[in-house]
Amino acid sequence: ETLDKGLEKSKTTFFDKLNKAVAGKSKVDDSVLDNLEEILVSSDVGVTTTLKIIDRIEARVAQDKYVGTGELNKILREEIAGLLSEIDSGNATDFVVPKHTTGPHVIMVVGVNGVGKTTTIGKLAHQFKSQGLNVVLGAADTFRAAAIDQLQVWADRTGVPIVKQEMGSDPASVAFDTLQSGLNQNADVIIIDTAGRLHNKVNLMNELTKVKRVMQKVITDAPHDVLLVLDGSTGQNAFEQAKQFTAATEVTSLAVTKLDGTAKGGVVIGISDQFQIPVKYIGVGEGIDDLQVFNKFEFVDSFFK
Ligand code: GDP
Repeated sequence: ETLDKGLEKSKTTFFDKLNKAVAGKSKVDDSVLDNLEEILVSSDVGVTTTLKIIDRIEARVAQDKYVGTGELNKILREEIAGLLSEIDSGNATDFVVPKHTTGPHVIMVVGVNGVGKTTTIGKLAHQFKSQGLNVVLGAADTFRAAAIDQLQVWADRTGVPIVKQEMGSDPASVAFDTLQSGLNQNADVIIIDTAGRLHNKVNLMNELTKVKRVMQKVITDAPHDVLLVLDGSTGQNAFEQAKQFTAATEVTSLAVTKLDGTAKGGVVIGISDQFQIPVKYIGVGEGIDDLQVFNKFEFVDSFFK
């Protein structure tokens, strides 16, 4: 229900445009496909993924000779669901924290400033804490004092301990301290905030590599998840950030934020298709409860309902 509410703007726009594109047409022809292409691109699905979808629909039209516009919704849903990668969390409403013999589950969170990284960490901490899990936060985005302060605000709000040092301190050192503290406190999950700036690619790579290496001195298989946070309302910028971060480190999952405030939820489809990294969470508001586990079927439904 919240997902529907959250994605209302994307849904309305996409669905309305789609209806307009097929109005007065009984079958899918070239002009319907042209319109569809434009709708997908303007919904931020991205050109590459859009062309892939159009190609597939063209192939089906060619094969079935006649495809009615009434069927277009169904076909599109199938094609889009097929592009969204599967995620392994069987239950879409669960914020599942895996168990490890080495200690707490460690999530390293990456992403540029302003995308909603801190908010997402706070929301996650809240979800985990409400399951009765012990959560520890680490403020390893040490470049800006505001980043540390913001994380502290969320730590206070959620009642979760935070490990931090002064602004400008070594991110790897903060990560190290956080993991040690998490181990000592018998934490179930540790969430580390990291690199909030895209300086140059080599620096970013070096910084993230170092943070990881130092973490592994404390917990050998950490981090278990490298979560990249992207702002879903920024379209092509989100693509560009995904490109840079995946080049700099092994990103294992995505959180796409601000899907409540955008008519462009299509970015989820393009990014998921092109980077083959599962979207694990979506942000649908500024509140503490406005984070959801991504469910591709719900997501596709919300586009077409
Ligand atoms: P950071 O710099 O990446 O850590 O970004 P913040 O977490 O400070 O978030 C930047 C702004 O985006 C804040 O005003 C947040 O309230 C807002 N924000 C974060 N996630 C969402 C979301 O899912 N929806 C909306 N509408 N706003 C969000």
